[in-house]
Amino acid sequence: MSWWSTASIRVRLTTWYTVGLSLMMVVYATATFVAVRHEFLEQLDDQLHDDFETAEGFLAPAPDGRIAWSSDRHHDPDNDEDRGSDVWSAGGEAIYRSTASAALPPVAIAAATATPRYESVTTEESRWRTLTGTSSVGGRAVVLRVSRSEDRLRAQLREILVVLVLGLPLVVALAGIGGYVLARRALTPIDHLASEARRITAERLHERLSVPNHHDEIGRLAAVINDTFARLESSFEQLRRFTADASHELRTPLSVIRGIGEIGLHETRTPAEYKEAMGSMLEEVDRLTTLVDTLLRLSHGDAGTVRLSRESVDVGQLARDVVSSLGILAEERNQRLRIDVADSISVTADRLVLREAITNVVDNAIKYSPRRSAIEIRVHGDGDRAIVDVADEGSGIAAEHRQRIFDRFFRLDEGRSRDSGGTGLGLAIARWAVEANGGHISVDSGPNGGSIFRIVLPAGAATIGEHHEHPTQHRRGSS
Ligand code: ADP
Repeated sequence: MSWWSTASIRVRLTTWYTVGLSLMMVVYATATFVAVRHEFLEQLDDQLHDDFETAEGFLAPAPDGRIAWSSDRHHDPDNDEDRGSDVWSAGGEAIYRSTASAALPPVAIAAATATPRYESVTTEESRWRTLTGTSSVGGRAVVLRVSRSEDRLRAQLREILVVLVLGLPLVVALAGIGGYVLARRALTPIDHLASEARRITAERLHERLSVPNHHDEIGRLAAVINDTFARLESSFEQLRRFTADASHELRTPLSVIRGIGEIGLHETRTPAEYKEAMGSMLEEVDRLTTLVDTLLRLSHGDAGTVRLSRESVDVGQLARDVVSSLGILAEERNQRLRIDVADSISVTADRLVLREAITNVVDNAIKYSPRRSAIEIRVHGDGDRAIVDVADEGSGIAAEHRQRIFDRFFRLDEGRSRDSGGTGLGLAIARWAVEANGGHISVDSGPNGGSIFRIVLPAGAATIGEHHEHPTQHRRGSS
């Protein structure tokens, strides 16, 4: 693994920041130096231009007909050893040569023009900037050259360069240290979060990270992690409850089997008694088998390994089938089981799985409603949804239990559920079956105090036909 990928974020941030800043500083320093140099050279040329005009003023025709160089002390450019002036006649004869510019080569007279020309000239000792042009003194042409040494200017530029070159690493180093300190300060709360999060183990899932400021990034991160802990805690709790409930459910029939066996072995029995004991044992084994099968199916459902064979299913027809197969149970309890198919709607679903969901809900309505009550199943469409409502006149389900009623092993009345052969898994299976088919199941209270279970399915290729009503009433005399 490279150093880069193992380095901490603060080191990587500081490195990026320092490299970026160095590049920007190099560009900035170079641009500054180039601009200053350009400005200095322009100033030098301006000064040469002024010198040229001053020098022209020093030239005057002498009484002997020659051109004379008369300089005044205060304006004499020759007072300065960095400056020089040279004058030649048109014929190339030197009229005046200052001492400062003595080392400069003479100008090519033929090349001199009326428009002054700037040039840089290098002598053995130094570099000079010159301005050469022609001028007219008393009607006679002269070639005038003014010059200034570039040495002072170059020395100043060198100083600036030294300051820039030495200052740049210093600035970058200071900025790098500052960046590291800032990155450290900004990231310290994350280290703090990490150590707090490490403290929260499976046994301490109720604890939460402290959120100093809900509005900044760290606060939002802590809030997200806290939400995750809350979900984890509820999943752990569900799992713990499920394991405890499942063990309990499995232990009850096992204890019954053991009890029957022990009683049977205690003393000698008649063959008829043994037969009865074995029958009871088999009943419990059946119960265990159903329980284990259902649990297995639910766990396959959780793992998403159940293969659904989807086809077009007429929901109304499916509900009628369920009603006709459960009718006998309602009859035994002298209940009126009524079905009303308002619309003929097809859904794309696994027929057997969907049938099981409707069966479990209708079976519960029969089990948990009083004798001689009415149970009504209504199939209707609502836009692009198919709805199956199962309403009963039972004791209803309190609002606080309506969500948990679909949890595994959740029962309102344990004894009654067990007496009626319930495993506490019927609605869990129903919810899985409906959701696997893309639907949703919920429960509400009915107008007469009972409950209404509602299965909503997305209608595929919906065909809403004419109104069919098939009241299927199963009656039996009171028992
Ligand atoms: P069970 O095997 O106990 O019937 P279910 O998962 O089917 O398990 O139902 C869970 C619990 O919900 C039942 O024990 C019962 O207390 C309650 N319940 C289900 N359906 C109804 C209903 N129609 N009316 C009242 N209570 C119901």
